[in-house]
Amino acid sequence: MNRIILHIDMDAFYASVEQLDHAPFRGKPVIVGGTSNRGVVSTASYEARKFGVHSAMPIFQAKQKCPHGIFLPVRMMRYKELSRQIMSTLEGFTPLVEQISIDEAYLDISGTERLLGTPVEIGCRVKEGIKAATSLSCSVGIAPNKFLAKIASEMKKPDGLTIIRPDGVQGVIDRLPIEKVPGVGEKTVLILRNLGVSRLVDVRRLHEHTLIEKAGKFGRRLLDLSKGIDTSPVLPYTEAKSISSEDTLPEDTDDMEILKRQLLIQAELVGRKLRKNGLKGSTVTLKLKSSDFKQTSRSVTLDEPANSTNLIYERGLRLLQDLDASTRFRLIGIGISNLSPEKGVIEQLNLFKKLDVREDPWVNVERAMDTIKDRFGKNAIKRGAHDLG
Ligand SMILES: [Mg+2]
Repeated sequence: MNRIILHIDMDAFYASVEQLDHAPFRGKPVIVGGTSNRGVVSTASYEARKFGVHSAMPIFQAKQKCPHGIFLPVRMMRYKELSRQIMSTLEGFTPLVEQISIDEAYLDISGTERLLGTPVEIGCRVKEGIKAATSLSCSVGIAPNKFLAKIASEMKKPDGLTIIRPDGVQGVIDRLPIEKVPGVGEKTVLILRNLGVSRLVDVRRLHEHTLIEKAGKFGRRLLDLSKGIDTSPVLPYTEAKSISSEDTLPEDTDDMEILKRQLLIQAELVGRKLRKNGLKGSTVTLKLKSSDFKQTSRSVTLDEPANSTNLIYERGLRLLQDLDASTRFRLIGIGISNLSPEKGVIEQLNLFKKLDVREDPWVNVERAMDTIKDRFGKNAIKRGAHDLG
């Protein structure tokens, strides 16, 4: 089956956030990356790029090129907050969202046309959805695979939407300069230039063994890319593996009341972090260190993913009560793993519902359910169906 992959890339993300939060900065050259001359530029607004300022440029150099620029420190917390809103907007379209950086993601929308519209319509809705959620613009690339989707999103920036259809792949590869291929660094560019390669299509003239000899394992991938082939799947959510909190006790103790109190404090830290990040977890792990520094951990798997402090505490407490009561402990901690996005199937259904108002909303919900069942198995819908009641 032909895949349809979207690549979403926010436009000058950090700088755009600063312009969003500070109206006087709008339309002005904004350079995010710190105010000290020793730093480098993280992101330059499009206004600053006109002066030749770009990412990774030393700040002192950016100041020479753009002396009247607005130089700002990186406010990572704020960018992450918006990034979470962006990713959860994307997860409203399909569960197959792979975040690849703070402001970039791939979506696999293969087989959703019946439900959501043509690829271009979906691309427009993604852009509208992100704009509605954050007031920020992004560029979208649509193509039969991840590699070409990323190339496509670069083609029209900012606020672009580019589709590479299967019959247009060849033309793109023929024109693509080798240094624009994701994964090709300066070193590889030099090697390939020496082999007479300046565009991706030139790679095809080389023998596979020459490519592998000169460019290593990446040579084989380059050869695939030069034919427009990239079979790598869109892999949903792989960011955090677990969230945990632990603390050394003021003194070694076997007093259950003190241990319980400490456990609740740690459970609250873990629960809050889960909720703040829009996550749930399914495995709770209790960790203890005894006064002789022996470490013990016990885990339990929950019936369904959770992020409630109370539940995490209660499960942790049961694990604690099962342990030898005579041991004196010096450290207690709790963690949760097997993380998944909090936004469940039901929220996605709600979004699908909003997308097409011409029909009875329940028809769309049922169609959405069917699609999800088709693609992810019968059980994928259970939790959503339960929440409906
Ligand atoms: Mg970007």
